[in-house]
Amino acid sequence: MAVSLEQELRAEFGAAVLDGAPADFLTDFTRVRGRADAVVLPGTAEEVAAVLAWCYERDVPITPRGGGTGYAGGAVPFGGVVLGLERLTRVRSFDPLLWRIEVEAGVPTGEVHRLARESGLMFPPDPGGAEQSQIGGNIATNAGGPHAFKYGVTGKWVTGLEAAIPPGELVRTGGPLRKDVASYDLKSLLVGSEGTLGIVTAAWLRLLPAPEAVHPVTGFYPDTEAGCDAILRVIGSGLEASALEYLDAGALAAAGASYPGGIPDGAGFMVIAEADGSQDEAARLRDELLAVLSEGALAAEAPRPTELWRWRHGLVFAIIAQRGGKIGEDIAVPLDRLAEAIEESLAIGRRHGLAAASWGHAGDGNLHTNYLISLDDPDELARAERAAEELMELALQLGGTVSGEHGLGLLKRGHAGWTPRVAALQRAIKDAFDPKGLLNPGKKL
Ligand SMILES: Cc1cc2nc3c(=O)[nH]c(=O)nc-3n(C[C@H](O)[C@H](O)[C@H](O)COP(=O)(O)OP(=O)(O)OC[C@H]3O[C@@H](n4cnc5c(N)ncnc54)[C@H](O)[C@@H]3O)c2cc1C
Repeated sequence: MAVSLEQELRAEFGAAVLDGAPADFLTDFTRVRGRADAVVLPGTAEEVAAVLAWCYERDVPITPRGGGTGYAGGAVPFGGVVLGLERLTRVRSFDPLLWRIEVEAGVPTGEVHRLARESGLMFPPDPGGAEQSQIGGNIATNAGGPHAFKYGVTGKWVTGLEAAIPPGELVRTGGPLRKDVASYDLKSLLVGSEGTLGIVTAAWLRLLPAPEAVHPVTGFYPDTEAGCDAILRVIGSGLEASALEYLDAGALAAAGASYPGGIPDGAGFMVIAEADGSQDEAARLRDELLAVLSEGALAAEAPRPTELWRWRHGLVFAIIAQRGGKIGEDIAVPLDRLAEAIEESLAIGRRHGLAAASWGHAGDGNLHTNYLISLDDPDELARAERAAEELMELALQLGGTVSGEHGLGLLKRGHAGWTPRVAALQRAIKDAFDPKGLLNPGKKL
């Protein structure tokens, strides 16, 4: 009887190899379903490198997997081995007085936030799926989130990486260093590489003293134009908000009922800004932001931070609950094209007969326009997929990018709008790291 790949792997890696390939390991938040010959959950970085070496020697594709919260199909396997990082959960070192921490890739993002907070520090990147996503997944996608507006995306907080690189070697780039310009920036190449260049096993992260106070403010406007004017006024005012978010009429219709305090009548657009800093600074900034947001607003107020952000983090689930499914992209455009991008993304939905909701990180020009669908309706699904393609074309027409934070993964590859020379450079980088093309094949490129 032929020996299966799973049995061969088990002979080498024992209990780290699961029985079969459980459904949870074959999908991500896109709900695209793949298939795998085996799932391995190594317990150490050295074991990650050994599994990679084993696969490389036998020409077996390998799909790295973090928390599976990705929105691009990046962790969905198509044959070969799924390598899950969930057992790599050690905090290797934590030096609060030096504002730094070294964690293994499988530590949940929320755990890094908690550890930092307990010592009066913060790890600023705050993607919405933080309780389930892993720090390795955040690094592999260079994840953003609401506070990327002031603090930047994940890569800005990574000072060093340890990664398993083909054909199966552990390498370190950077470290507990605040500066390092001694080589080509391999760390930044690995950040955002979506598991196509190497498998991140650990990271050195930079932390910051946590602000003493945080005060969100919100403004409600009749329409997109008035709301986007308010966003541009905030930016033009020179006030340094820590977050600047928006929700359109479709998003408010889905989630407005649970907004603490209620949505004013006639509101078709909401802006959320946030002030942080020392007690005095944050209070002053809150009042100034409130004054700017009040201009042209139906209402403006300063809600409590915990309630506001809990509601904001639940937004995506309220939107999915409308029809059971959603398809959309996370395009980003230059800030002066934001209103046009939101309006045009909704018009695309109307042309395809689809209900839509749009929200996102306004200050970063990052839109999450989603078309609401019933997953049981193949015709609606096909129309939504066409609409999502048009959304990506729109981003490029407006001088933007097809992905502001989720990555290309499976769903957006081929849409990035690279010139032939840029595409060749991307391919050359991939070939330099992974000459056999076995790491997360079919993704990104
Ligand atoms: C409710 C919700 C809200 C979200 N909000 C945001 C948001 O505000 N901003 C944002 O940017 N994203 C957001 N996301 C998307 C998602 O959380 C991020 O993309 C996140 O960084 C994915 O991390 P993960 O650990 O779940 O990775 P996975 O989904 O498991 O994998 C994502 C990609 O990274 C690769 N990968 C994972 N781990 C490793 C590793 N250790 N080494 C190498 N490659 C690896 C995978 O192969 C895959 O290509 C949200 C998702 C949800 C469900």
